[in-house]
Amino acid sequence: MMRGICAFGCSRLVPVILRMLCLMLLFAVFPNTAWAMPCSMGEEEAVFAQLQAGKRMEAEKTYSVPADPTVYLTFDDGPSQLTPKVLDILQAEGVQATFFVLGEQAEQRPELVRRIVKEGHVLGNHTYNHKYKELYSDFSVFWDQVQKTEKVLADQTGERTRLLRAPGGTFGHFDAFYYHYLSLAGYEVYDWNIDSEDARRPGMTAESIYRTVEKGPFRHELIVLMHDGPGHEESVKALPRIIRLFKEKGYAFATLSSSVKPVQFSLGKQKWPRTVSREKYEQMVAAAREHGKLWSDLPNIRQTPQTMIAAEGAVPGPERLRLQTGGTAVSLAKSEMIYRDGYYLVPIRQLSSLMGGTVEWKEQDRTAAVTRGLYQAEYDFAQRELRVINPAGALQTISLPEMEVRDGVLYVPLRKTLELFGGRVTAYLAEAEPGTAEVRISLSGPYGSWWGIYQQLKETAGLSKHSETRTY
Ligand SMILES: [Zn+2]
Repeated sequence: MMRGICAFGCSRLVPVILRMLCLMLLFAVFPNTAWAMPCSMGEEEAVFAQLQAGKRMEAEKTYSVPADPTVYLTFDDGPSQLTPKVLDILQAEGVQATFFVLGEQAEQRPELVRRIVKEGHVLGNHTYNHKYKELYSDFSVFWDQVQKTEKVLADQTGERTRLLRAPGGTFGHFDAFYYHYLSLAGYEVYDWNIDSEDARRPGMTAESIYRTVEKGPFRHELIVLMHDGPGHEESVKALPRIIRLFKEKGYAFATLSSSVKPVQFSLGKQKWPRTVSREKYEQMVAAAREHGKLWSDLPNIRQTPQTMIAAEGAVPGPERLRLQTGGTAVSLAKSEMIYRDGYYLVPIRQLSSLMGGTVEWKEQDRTAAVTRGLYQAEYDFAQRELRVINPAGALQTISLPEMEVRDGVLYVPLRKTLELFGGRVTAYLAEAEPGTAEVRISLSGPYGSWWGIYQQLKETAGLSKHSETRTY
């Protein structure tokens, strides 16, 4: 009798305990994606069945809600010859926006992609060619286009974006599988809650676009759909009035980031008949998970920041800047650094010695060769670019228009340089002491080790409550 109860109790209890341990372990290693990794094949089976039945997986993720009513202006299908006009208007109005660009368009206009980022706006991925028939015939096509576009943008700017918008929106296009894979891969999918209808039908005038937006509804957080692709002159004309409308209603303007709660449409009736085999599902899940690791495993790639960059000269820099990592610190007087557009340029020599690297300046070809462990880089001042070879042996060429030489000293952007060498800013204290700003830096091992990544995660968790604005 006793034995019977024990056997029954144990057989019930053991899997529960194992599952709990498994979940705890996953939470420790992947705090944001623990749910995404089922513990057993049985659960994987259940997930597949749920997706087959057309039901989305629930992702447990928390988002931050801004204190003020906030509008996120979004522009799709660019960059095009209209984008400079949109950027000029945004600059004149002092507001930031998000650009869901097409890889195909971005390839044609790299200078515009860089201008978008340089002026404090944020890039999102809108696939490569926008062709519904291809994108929604099979997820693997959609995936390839997202990857291709991500690479185009990363090559042009040195940044990857996890913000994604489905061409035509998700309704009737996405199924539960699309959402599941993209979530595993670390993307955030954004539809909208105000459609300016500037792409809904031909012949929309600036007046009718404005009237559509004016109807609202005006929720606490608004994601507004507009277009800066070819042929959208009327949207450009309507933009200044639309911005003024939101200003009058007391809205703050911000860029999307993966901490902004996405608006996502319901699945709707599928317009595209698709079938998913179990085998294909497993392949896609593996690829998506592999990509999902990238966001935490590759410290040399900057993730989309939520930038609130002050206008040039609007904010005076601090008297002194302290760079702190572990027990080592470098202190720079105002004359030894450049503070501009809300970010810092610092001498490469001081920065490399802080990171435990070496630097060699070659005056004749105006390049600085920097070595830190397995990372090698060459700052090419003539080309205004940086070539980095990371521990995996991959070469990245990054445009760095902001680098500067003054009195024989090469100044490089602090945050970007750190991240390219496997480091990371964990906190920024604008007033660590009166007149002194402090940037706390976490350096992963110069060999990009797991231990280094673990240390970074630990440090970030401990320090995040001290961070204030992100003006580095
Ligand atoms: Zn579009």
